[in-house]
Amino acid sequence: MNVRLLSYTPEPDRVVALSARLCYSKIDISELAEKLTNEKVKELLNRLRNSGHLSPFEHASFTFGIEGISRVTSHQLVRHRIASYSQQSQRYVNMSKTDFVIPPSIMENKSALELLSNVNDLAKSTYNKLIELGIPEEDARYVLPQGISTKIIVTMNARELLHFFNLRCCLRAQWEIRMMANLMLKEVKEVAPVIFEKAGPFCFSGPCPEEGPCPLKNEICY
Ligand SMILES: Cc1cc2nc3c(=O)[nH]c(=O)nc-3n(C[C@H](O)[C@H](O)[C@H](O)COP(=O)(O)OP(=O)(O)OC[C@H]3O[C@@H](n4cnc5c(N)ncnc54)[C@H](O)[C@@H]3O)c2cc1C
Repeated sequence: MNVRLLSYTPEPDRVVALSARLCYSKIDISELAEKLTNEKVKELLNRLRNSGHLSPFEHASFTFGIEGISRVTSHQLVRHRIASYSQQSQRYVNMSKTDFVIPPSIMENKSALELLSNVNDLAKSTYNKLIELGIPEEDARYVLPQGISTKIIVTMNARELLHFFNLRCCLRAQWEIRMMANLMLKEVKEVAPVIFEKAGPFCFSGPCPEEGPCPLKNEICY
């Protein structure tokens, strides 16, 4: 899996803080920006988070290039609606050279790995035969398993990312999307350390709202 932050709003922490500050100030935006110290940025962002005043976080956007995730995970990802996506097309791109993602539980089990590998090989050879028969890629792809890998470019604003990390860094999320979310979080923490200071699963910054058994019994699981 390869997750890269391709681009982002410059000075994301300051942009969010400035937007929040503007709501309560009479002075010009340029003067507000000049007066905004790093301490003030931290204090403002903390206050926004604690009060649930989250709309200023929408002014900072982040674009990720993600490769080597399965279609299982890309399907889970695109359920997050407050985002923009561009995904490699299986209609227009031939899949005969594309790899499959193998879950660790299967990788560690020799018999299971053999079963899955056989199915993947058969799916791939059937796909190739369908193409040889003149079937278009968009129809030949119906034989491909969900584990086939894909590439996607995703843009989310900071508000949606905070929500996404709450859900997908949690141990309740499946391992692959959790791994991807944690890599995304690592990337954005580098460029927006204040916005994402407390980002992660719900239990990282407060009580867990979920019911039912948690693998870590509602202790901090981040
Ligand atoms: C552990 C886990 C298990 C899951 N299991 C299943 C499953 O078995 N079956 C299944 O179908 N899905 C499942 N999902 C997906 C889940 O139901 C959501 O579709 C997904 O997490 C996207 O989250 P969301 O809807 O909160 O947010 P997003 O689409 O990211 O939107 C963010 C927020 O915007 C608001 N919003 C967005 N769109 C609307 C709207 N149309 N109307 C009102 N408010 C809106 C909501 O407040 C929402 O929380 C699972 C998710 C997780 C994390």
